[in-house]
Formats: sequence, C-alpha cells, structure tokens
Amino acid sequence: MKKLLFTMLSFAFIANQAFAANSVEKIRVGETKEKTRIVFQASKNDSISVKKVFQLNNPPRLVIDMQKTKFKLSASNINIAPQSRIQSIREGVFNSKTHRIVIDLKAGMKYKYFEIARTKTMGQRFVVDLLSTKNATYYTPKPQANVSSRGNEISIRKGDIKSLRKDNFVVMIDAGHGGVDPGAVGKISRRKSVYEKTITLSIAKKLQREINKYPNMTAYLTRSTDVFVPLRTRIKKATKKNADLFISIHADAHNSSKIRGGSVYILSENSSDKEAARLARIANRGDEVAGVILKNEARDIQSILIDLTQRESMNKSALLAQDVLKQMKNVVYVKHTKAKFAGFVVLKSADIPSILVESSYISNPKDRAMLINPKKQDQLAKAIAKGTYNYLKKNY
Ligand SMILES: [Zn+2]
Repeated sequence: MKKLLFTMLSFAFIANQAFAANSVEKIRVGETKEKTRIVFQASKNDSISVKKVFQLNNPPRLVIDMQKTKFKLSASNINIAPQSRIQSIREGVFNSKTHRIVIDLKAGMKYKYFEIARTKTMGQRFVVDLLSTKNATYYTPKPQANVSSRGNEISIRKGDIKSLRKDNFVVMIDAGHGGVDPGAVGKISRRKSVYEKTITLSIAKKLQREINKYPNMTAYLTRSTDVFVPLRTRIKKATKKNADLFISIHADAHNSSKIRGGSVYILSENSSDKEAARLARIANRGDEVAGVILKNEARDIQSILIDLTQRESMNKSALLAQDVLKQMKNVVYVKHTKAKFAGFVVLKSADIPSILVESSYISNPKDRAMLINPKKQDQLAKAIAKGTYNYLKKNY
C-alpha cells in the first residue's frame, strides 16, 4: 500500500511538471523596413504551445491564444520604438486553460507565424512576422446564430441553444457597489440622499428570497452587508458556487432628472450605445473608487475581449435578459423593451450567462419613489425571479 501511494504521488508530481512546462521568458521585437518580428521564447527545457492566432479590427490587433502559460516577464515592460508597427503588447490569463496575448497594431497587418524547436541551450520559440499591407484580413466571428444587435437593441433568433436537464440551478445575485463605493447618489432633499448601494442590497436580498421560493433554484449573494467587494471577487464568488446564472443589480443616476426607466444589459466587447458605454465606465470605475490598484494582469484581462467562442453564453444571457425584462415591465417603467449590450466588468464571467439589471434612475423622482419603496422592491424582486424561472423553464 505504501509503495502504491508512493508511485501515485510521483506520478502526480511528474504530471504536474509536464503541465507547468509552458512558459514565456523573453519577448523580443525586431524591426526592419519590410517587417516587424516578434519572438516569444520559452525558458530552457520549456515550450510554447499556441492554440490559435487571429487578427481583429477596430482597433486592429493580433491575438495569440496559448495553452496555460507561465509568463516570466511583464509584456508592458517591453521597449517598443515609437515608429514601430505595433503599439503595445498585453497578456493575461484568459481562463484556466488559455493565456492570451494581444498585440495592439497601428494598422491591420499581414501576419505569418512559425515555431522554432527547442535546442540544447534555448527553449522553444514562437515567431510572428508582421508585414504592412493594404488588404489586411480580420477574423470576424460568424454571424451570430441567435443574437444580433441593431442600433442599441438586441434581437434574438431561437436557435441551437443547448438544453440541459438539471434539477437545481444556482443563481448568483450581485448587489452593485457597497462600502466606500456608494454608486449613484440621488438627492431627496438638501440634507437627505439615497445611495445606489443601499437600494441594490435591499433588492438583491429580496430577490434571493424570491428565487429560493422556487424548488429548482438556489440563490446566493456576492455581498449581504454594506461592504466593498472588488468586481473580480464578485465573479470569483459566482465561479466558486458553480453558478449557472449571474444577476447584477444596479440603479442609475443621470444629470437630467427627466431620464427614467429600467433596462437590462448583457455583456459585449463594445457597448451598444453611448449611454451603455457611459454606464459601463461608471460601473467599472468601482474598483478605482475604493483605491484598489488592479495588478497588471487584471488590467490586461479587463481590456482583453471576451472569447468569441463563448457566444453561446451570450445567447443565453440575451434570452435571460429578455425574460427578465418582460416581467420587469409590469413593475417599472421600461423604455427599451429589448436588452442592451454593455462592456461591464462584472459581466465578464463570460462562461456564466449574466445580466445586469439597471432597476431605474434614482435621479428621477418617479423612479426613485419606486426604488425606495419596500413594497415596490418586493414586486421588482418577484418579477426578476419569475423572469429567471421562465427562462430556465423554456431553455433547459
Ligand atoms: Zn451601479
């Protein structure tokens, strides 16, 4: 028995080592009149394992997806000449299996790549050559099967949403903001203000109660008190609980007290309109408000786009958003009857269908009266829970 255990342990050790052998130790950028060459070099004995390379537009950038790889240097420290064809190199952990490198380009390029096997003295190398061209080709995700965006609204065509029989669904409810980050502030009178963080927590708790009334759903909260929780931690909490759905609750404020109405957002790389982009900026600023300095890595992930292969969860998010909106309409004023796209960090748990509910505007007197009314909050929570249930019933 002892021997067997030893064998198993050493096997585990070897397997582990083999797994950790992808690394990038050096990145060199060489430039000539004709081309720019970027060389990624693994540590001695290590290798580089590239899964896919593709170019995206707006802005032009080359994406290299590697297997899980240990980066032994910070890409942001690489010296890039001002006249270079490239602007910057970013990298970050994309998911548990993928490390993503993004090379920001000044213009679309023709690109080639190849590997150089490891030698006695040098680890494996991966070489990318960029050549100026007038006819750059970009990878465009296939026309989305189910979700399309026209103007600032999302249309859904029922399609190949996979169904999955399950008897319990975990819903992670995220009360926006908290602690030192009050979120939007609404003035009731000269001395009295109402904070978004208070409203979101109250609605989130009610929503948890409502969701838990359904036999096939269990809800958890990313925060249950008035504390600051960094955006990334909120996502981590959802992943830890194996959440099937992620619902983030917010309330908005606007300079104009006339602006009102609730909306539901799903994630996209680009926000669907100016308003959504503005909102995303405010929500994403949450971490800065609390003085949390995101590590390089986290910042890179933030700016790295969502995986184009994770479209299925986007489709699911859009369907969930639609069902929730349909119910919300009965409780709050809804201006847009379709979900919108926005680049919210909290929604970037791309493999969990996620929505962000802007329950309406605390800067608008009518909306605010609704938002601070516990009975109305109950109704709103009931509506969101029912929409979520309807979505699950229809699609699973
Ligand atoms: Zn908010």
